[in-house]
Amino acid sequence: MKPNTVLRHALWTIGPNPDRDPPTVHTACKECGEKSPVGTDRAASDPWALEHSGRTGHRRYHECVSVDLITRPAHEETTR
Ligand SMILES: [Zn+2]
Repeated sequence: MKPNTVLRHALWTIGPNPDRDPPTVHTACKECGEKSPVGTDRAASDPWALEHSGRTGHRRYHECVSVDLITRPAHEETTR
């Protein structure tokens, strides 16, 4: 840090990135770890879990949703 560096306290926020790719979702079996294909349609992962239950008898799942986030100073205007 140079002697002339100015530090200031600023409030930052975090939220969805307006330039993000669509959120993705997949379902994972909590009993064996097998995962459905990753996609952008939540309804597509449910049939995978139902088929997996029918094939294995496993009944416990974890739904994993991934959304790109972005941080920015709170005073920065969001125009999108
Ligand atoms: Zn399983």
